[in-house]
Amino acid sequence: MQLPSSLLENAVNEFSRLPGIGKKTALRLVLHLLKQDVSEVLQFGDTISRMRQDIKFCQRCLNISDADICSICANSSRNQHLICVVENIRDVIAIESTQQYNGTYHVLGGIISPLDGVGPDQLSIEPLISRIQKEETEELMFALNPNIQGDTTIYYIQKKIQQFSCKVTTIARGIAFGGELEYADEMTLARSITNRLPIGQYVK
Ligand SMILES: [Zn+2]
Repeated sequence: MQLPSSLLENAVNEFSRLPGIGKKTALRLVLHLLKQDVSEVLQFGDTISRMRQDIKFCQRCLNISDADICSICANSSRNQHLICVVENIRDVIAIESTQQYNGTYHVLGGIISPLDGVGPDQLSIEPLISRIQKEETEELMFALNPNIQGDTTIYYIQKKIQQFSCKVTTIARGIAFGGELEYADEMTLARSITNRLPIGQYVK
């Protein structure tokens, strides 16, 4: 792509480093910014830099936060003895959006995946274990993706916390709402049968 200005080219290159943004889209975004008032673009840049520089991770659950402790951990009306274990912050946002969960979280920062070179030590598993011990957690609820890596991670953590009197659960897995039985893989269908619910719970 031949551009008439190196300043323009630098900006296009920066935007095209973002996920899902190709050179053409990057150029469109940059040209859009060029049409805005200088003050607006400065504010845009400032917001991004401040977000990157000032954002914190909750010292307790590793969720994104403006303070040392996030708003979920600091909220006394939430069940602080219930921890939902998730892979990343996007999962926290997804679960919060359901407005069906009233406990706390623990963000692992990934999932055990030996093929990708990710072992337990690279994840925040030790902090989780000491947290369960210290806070006398009543229930640990796993909300990990239903795959081999997710199951490996659950198995590993479960072994590590066997000595604590903490109930361990996982979110239900089965056929997706709107899905069709004949297209579900055998493992999903098998799990749906094993984890079947009384109809009263299902239609609630
Ligand atoms: Zn927190």
